[in-house]
Amino acid sequence: MKRRDVLGALLAVAASSTLPLSAVAQQAAPRRLPWRNWSGSQHCLPEARLAPASVDELRSLVRSAHTVRPVGAGHSFSALVPTDGTIVSLSRLSGIVAHDTDSLQATVWAGTRLGDIGAPLEQAGQALLNMPDIDEQTLAGCLSTATHGTGAGIGCMSTFVRGLQLVDGRGNVIDCDADNHPDVYNAARVSLGALGIITQVRLQNTAPYRLRRETRWRSFDEIMETAEASADRHRNFEFYYIPFSGMGFTDSHDLTDEPLGSTEKIDQNEGAEDLKTIRDLLERVPKLRQLLLGSYLRILDDEVSVESSWKNYASERNVRFNEMEYHLPREHGLTALREIRQVLEKDFPEVFFPIEFRYVKGDDIWLSPFHGRDTCSIAVHRYFDEDYAPYFAAIEPIFRKYHGRPHWGKLNTLDRQALRALYPDWDRFAAVRRELDPQGRFLNTYLRSLFG
Ligand SMILES: Cc1cc2nc3c(=O)[nH]c(=O)nc-3n(C[C@H](O)[C@H](O)[C@H](O)COP(=O)(O)OP(=O)(O)OC[C@H]3O[C@@H](n4cnc5c(N)ncnc54)[C@H](O)[C@@H]3O)c2cc1C
Repeated sequence: MKRRDVLGALLAVAASSTLPLSAVAQQAAPRRLPWRNWSGSQHCLPEARLAPASVDELRSLVRSAHTVRPVGAGHSFSALVPTDGTIVSLSRLSGIVAHDTDSLQATVWAGTRLGDIGAPLEQAGQALLNMPDIDEQTLAGCLSTATHGTGAGIGCMSTFVRGLQLVDGRGNVIDCDADNHPDVYNAARVSLGALGIITQVRLQNTAPYRLRRETRWRSFDEIMETAEASADRHRNFEFYYIPFSGMGFTDSHDLTDEPLGSTEKIDQNEGAEDLKTIRDLLERVPKLRQLLLGSYLRILDDEVSVESSWKNYASERNVRFNEMEYHLPREHGLTALREIRQVLEKDFPEVFFPIEFRYVKGDDIWLSPFHGRDTCSIAVHRYFDEDYAPYFAAIEPIFRKYHGRPHWGKLNTLDRQALRALYPDWDRFAAVRRELDPQGRFLNTYLRSLFG
């Protein structure tokens, strides 16, 4: 793709994600606004794109629409959002509704972006227990796909929920928690936007805390030997392997009261561009590629930064990609990673994006991929305008062999039968779904194939 084409594509994505939705839908009635996800791999031409300003507006919208798909920040790679019906954003229902000092709980509008939660929550004397790699996503979007950070002792973000409110497919408002509508509560905390439109979420938080983040460059073998112990030792621990280098880096976060500050940091977006350039030049000479990359990465300095927790989890991801991530029982994670590295370096010299490896604690939420087991999450990526299918098709069987469950927001090829076999509570979720959305208003083509 030419530089100007890339710019054009990025501008189109930016335009489609920043326009005031309801205003546009009302003023320019028949003109349809296309929708695309972050990577550009999912797109559609919906009948309308709306952003209600109140729960009442949302209720009447749901009652009058044929198909409604809620959207957050459009950062999912799977086909959860596309519809030719109505796309609804809660971008106007954002911010903190209330907080309780004793319980350290806060009720937050579901359309709030993660990056907009940290500062007001800190002012209220609270902080999120953990965060993912980026903070662009909305709270509801994160919960709907079981978005996670890393930390062997910390669950995915849905486990922070203590209660939530949603508008179901009949336009009814339901408030649920462990005692009120417990089945809805168990289903809704990870629900793919298939159960109802979540409007508010009550989160269990913690007191504000400071994190020391340490990034260290090490050989693949050393990382593999020490990963399990590091995962148990650090509050948060993850690592990346750089293909065709024999090298990777570990990222750990621990509580600290050290003064705020940071060593010089590598720009990870520039790093990704450099890996692409090296791939372009040396794709056909793997030995030279390994020599050059390995020698370069070995001399990089470790990085340390001390920051308020909410400023020290997320990075900016400006180099777009498509992604497949599976969650495997923890005991299989490292074995699976070795096999993935072998397949990648034998058959896919065109791949340059790192493999990401994280730890997540098990939970009891019906459709959580972490249900009933502590987990290692392994993610593979391909540059956004390159064909991801052959690489992902070669890696997915390894994930499957080790009983992996796919990230709901990332690419995978599992159908209803395969997914149902992975989730003991699948039928209970489906029953609650039918009850709350008897007319199937929330089902697009993909979700109909799973629950229709
Ligand atoms: C660069 C990048 C980095 C990422 N990093 C991580 C990471 O570190 N960890 C991780 O686990 N994932 C990660 N993801 C995946 C991402 O967190 C999930 O796909 C998440 O669901 C995206 O949130 P969103 O707000 O963009 O929601 P969308 O992608 O817009 O929607 C996701 C789902 O939420 C539903 N939804 C949205 N709003 C509502 C609502 N109000 N009520 C009900 N349903 C709703 C949608 O219908 C859809 O089913 C990353 C993705 C990208 C592109």
